[in-house]
Amino acid sequence: MVRLFLCGLLVFGGACLRAETLKSEALAYALSTRYAPNANWASVVELEALADREVSRYWRPAATIQSARAEDALPLVGLHLAIDPGHIGGRWAAYEWRDFAVAEGDFRVREGELVLEVAQRVRAQLQALGAKVTLVRETYEPVNPKPPTDYLERALAELPLPKGASLAELLDHGHAVQFRAIQMAIIEAELVERARLVNEVIQPDALISLHINAAPWPEGEAPRLQLVDSNHVHVLIFGCLSDKELSSPRQQASMLTKLTNGSGEEERLLGRALGAALAETTTLPPSKYWGTNAVLLDPDASTVWARNLLLLRMVECPTVLLEPHVANSKVAYARIQKALATRAEGAKPDSDDILVEYADAVVAGVLGRYRSDFGE
Ligand SMILES: [Zn+2]
Repeated sequence: MVRLFLCGLLVFGGACLRAETLKSEALAYALSTRYAPNANWASVVELEALADREVSRYWRPAATIQSARAEDALPLVGLHLAIDPGHIGGRWAAYEWRDFAVAEGDFRVREGELVLEVAQRVRAQLQALGAKVTLVRETYEPVNPKPPTDYLERALAELPLPKGASLAELLDHGHAVQFRAIQMAIIEAELVERARLVNEVIQPDALISLHINAAPWPEGEAPRLQLVDSNHVHVLIFGCLSDKELSSPRQQASMLTKLTNGSGEEERLLGRALGAALAETTTLPPSKYWGTNAVLLDPDASTVWARNLLLLRMVECPTVLLEPHVANSKVAYARIQKALATRAEGAKPDSDDILVEYADAVVAGVLGRYRSDFGE
């Protein structure tokens, strides 16, 4: 655990006052461009109080890890990375809305299962390069120890029983409550538990959350699900709170922690390295957000967007969430089907296998950020 004062980061000798002014300006810039560019942050954030706020962190910046590494060490020695295979898969995939196939006989596409294999491949490769790697999830079961039945009461409070309901309505209501309780356990509470595990138990230098994107299904009269044409890649880091989100005391507290603990710049640079590696290996164009819930950070890093997602907000160490491919695009779906067929046959995947390629890109991105140069 490293404890430091923000003003101490910038001051030498008696220049604390000036350093605090600079820090306030830097914080204001970060709020205006990244953390709350579309919100009235000035009405809820007191910059002066933030500037000399004491912050603590369990993780180490890349420069610290690199400077402690011996010249003849493996390239990632000293790095402790956590990998979060997004979602769960298995019997929970349908409740996550991450389980589909477009034709009879196709392999079912379950994001939670695909990214677990990517995570295992990444772990093996990074360990061989000297890193310590911890997977947040190892199976197709939730990390949250609380079963869905623990959430029935909350689900019932959200979905009150209609008065004078018929038997059919009662049954529908029962199913809806059950579905909602399962979702609370395996989505919302699951993410909170994963963030708690990372912050309190794993305490890595950074977290990479693996996902595969998907597009809304086209509407129409089609007899079955229609694959889409667009296929793209992006990575997400924390930022872009709305006024409503900023008005939540818990979200505001998480934002202030992320804003002041130094994780912002670290995850921006890790995001750039991972985004560049994914764009290069997949040759996919960058994704675009058109609304106000995401902001592009650097014009020259077109894959890196800031968004206020629960995991990105609650995990205190640098955190990057990867979204390569659109799983229900024509190209990605065909590649996923081929990958799943290879595994069903027990054959060795090709080097252009979509999951092998994904893992290779993550390893290249991690190397790009954490490898020592030593005058190369
Ligand atoms: Zn996902």
